Amino acid sequence: MISLNNRDFLYVPIADYLIPAEKVAHVQIGNNAEHALLVLTKTGYSAIPVIDSKNQLKGLLGIGMITDSILGMERIEYEKLADLKVDQIMQTDIPNIKTTDKFQKGLDLLINHTFLCVTEEDGTFAGILTRRVMLKEFKKYIYKN
Ligand code: AMP
Repeated sequence: MISLNNRDFLYVPIADYLIPAEKVAHVQIGNNAEHALLVLTKTGYSAIPVIDSKNQLKGLLGIGMITDSILGMERIEYEKLADLKVDQIMQTDIPNIKTTDKFQKGLDLLINHTFLCVTEEDGTFAGILTRRVMLKEFKKYIYKN
């Protein structure tokens, strides 16, 4: 068990650790599944945020969700990709975390998620907090103390 005397880092706002929205690959709610698959394949990311035209976070979309949505009884129905919209297949029950929440909340949630979509108080997408960034910060902290 790691014993840390100073727990101040747990109370630092998540905003300090974000990959900002402008650097995050995403899809728009009106995009079709074909476009989303292209973005996911080209970037190599397993999942990306879904945003609306007012920059509000609406959900998360992963390659598995797209594949699931075009699985037929005997084959993968690729021709459906163009007609399926992102909002028909995205995951909407994602953790709710804000820029003002503390590192501790991110730490708890990142146990079960590789990254978290973070919003401002009004739901505007602010960026993502990844498990990689969190672990790096944690490592820095442990070596310093
Ligand atoms: P990483 O910690 O870099 O391995 O990223 C873990 C996951 O976070 C990736 O598979 C993506 O789903 C997501 N992710 C990381 N960086 C970005 C980014 N710049 N844009 C979109 N998604 C990202």
